[in-house]
Amino acid sequence: MYRRGERGWVEVICGPMFSGKSEELIRRVTRSKIARVPVQTFKPSIDVRYARAEVVSHSSLSVEASPVADSAALLKAVREVTVVVGIDEAQFFDQALVEAVDDLAKAGKQVIVAGLDLDYLSRPFEPVPTLASHAEYVTKMLAVCHRCGAPAGHTQRIVHSDELVVLGATDSYEARCRLCYDPTEPEQPKLLE
Ligand code: ADP
Ligand code: MG
Ligand code: ZN
Repeated sequence: MYRRGERGWVEVICGPMFSGKSEELIRRVTRSKIARVPVQTFKPSIDVRYARAEVVSHSSLSVEASPVADSAALLKAVREVTVVVGIDEAQFFDQALVEAVDDLAKAGKQVIVAGLDLDYLSRPFEPVPTLASHAEYVTKMLAVCHRCGAPAGHTQRIVHSDELVVLGATDSYEARCRLCYDPTEPEQPKLLE
């Protein structure tokens, strides 16, 4: 029988770069910590932009976080007593993160996942869109368009690369609204004959 307070759930915080996803994740897990609820926060070990064992926002807020290689390592690292599980940069995890997060919620954990919902070409950035479809609560964040100041849902790459993942925040990407976003930018470098 269902009894209130015994069940877990999933919260997804998604949106483009600079939209405050990490800030919001840090705010939510910090509130739980203040309430003395056992919290563990994770990030993919691929993301070493800032401090190693922390989630850090562009506004320099931070919370301690364990870097993990993949969703299997994350599942293994979650302790029995933990109630709130925070996960940042979910787009850098494998697709099995969806099942891992579902399992944690079934085991009674409150899972808060933050990540990009679109890549730099505005394609769905898995596993975040699937996570959002499995979540009880979804918060779509918007940044401020670097060009015009409108609410921005897209991440514009401003350096040339065909790689899906180019790390390094402010010098490589801008938040853009749908009018200012242009996937053909920056110009492809011309090959020398
Ligand atoms: P995300 O995790 O979504 O990339 P962060 O939480 O790390 O975002 O950073 C959000 C902070 O970034 C904002 O509070 C603000 O201080 C700063 N910021 C820099 N550029 C922008 C922008 N274009 N729009 C909104 N916030 C920005
Ligand atoms: Mg972030
Ligand atoms: Zn704009």
